[in-house]
Amino acid sequence: MRLLILGSGSNGGVPQWDCNCPRCQAARLNPELRRTRSSVAVELVNRRYLLLDATPDLYHQLHSAGLHPGGERRESVIEAVLLTHGHGDHCVGLFELSTGAIFEIPVYGPPDLIEHLFGEEGYFAYLGRLGERYVEPTPLEEGESLELPGGLRAEGFEVPHTDRLEDGSYRPSRTYGYEVEGDGGRLLYIPDIEALTEGVLRRMEDADLVLLDGTFWWEDELLRVSGIDVSSTALGHVPIERSLETLRDVDVGRVIYTHINHTNPLLDPGSRMLGELRRAGFDLAYDGQVIAL
Ligand SMILES: [Zn+2]
Ligand SMILES: [Zn+2]
Ligand SMILES: [Zn+2]
Repeated sequence: MRLLILGSGSNGGVPQWDCNCPRCQAARLNPELRRTRSSVAVELVNRRYLLLDATPDLYHQLHSAGLHPGGERRESVIEAVLLTHGHGDHCVGLFELSTGAIFEIPVYGPPDLIEHLFGEEGYFAYLGRLGERYVEPTPLEEGESLELPGGLRAEGFEVPHTDRLEDGSYRPSRTYGYEVEGDGGRLLYIPDIEALTEGVLRRMEDADLVLLDGTFWWEDELLRVSGIDVSSTALGHVPIERSLETLRDVDVGRVIYTHINHTNPLLDPGSRMLGELRRAGFDLAYDGQVIAL
């Protein structure tokens, strides 16, 4: 299995527009340190891709990764899109696909997310002159197996991240992680997760690669770095310091953290934390990274 990291930043990207911290300054000076919002393209068959999440940076990500038709005819290199949840950094890029209505690209996600985006009052249901139903929104039940070209198979599984309301519903939708298996590998994509539950840890066992929520290193990172008194867990992200500890006892092939926030000390190349991460055998994703399983 071959995959491309289209983006590896959190909701704000790196640099973040309203910040001039040392990490944002460094990223402004050096394009290699920039991180667009988290997304992955998995190659299914020759130049046909499965897109995991559709970020606000999708237009530039497709261009940077060279994901365009090979011939002169218009053609979609995107076979299908799997959406994790309804936070803007993971789905607003769907708008980009409005020029490609003729391709009827299937967009899968948790049923409540598909309703939220494409229901009667849905966010993307109608784009005026840009179109209606320009993709094929399709609810995917948890555990339902999706057969893909190239002999690959994908499945969504629920993870804690989005807010749960008193009536049991989620706001704006429940959150999935995705498992993609076949072509010699098993990948887990979990860019946003509040806690590593037993079920998630069981899935991680023997996975060849886990692309995991690495938004924050510390539980109190926003307080330490930006003076904002809200914890990592309250924002729905397990801090790396904690997940690293938990994963020491799990037999997982490779863990690469993604969805990195500009406050994360791992972004300092000389940091003690980056050393600690690499000694544990783990690493940090970067935009444009190509991984073969
Ligand atoms: Zn996110
Ligand atoms: Zn910053
Ligand atoms: Zn989120």
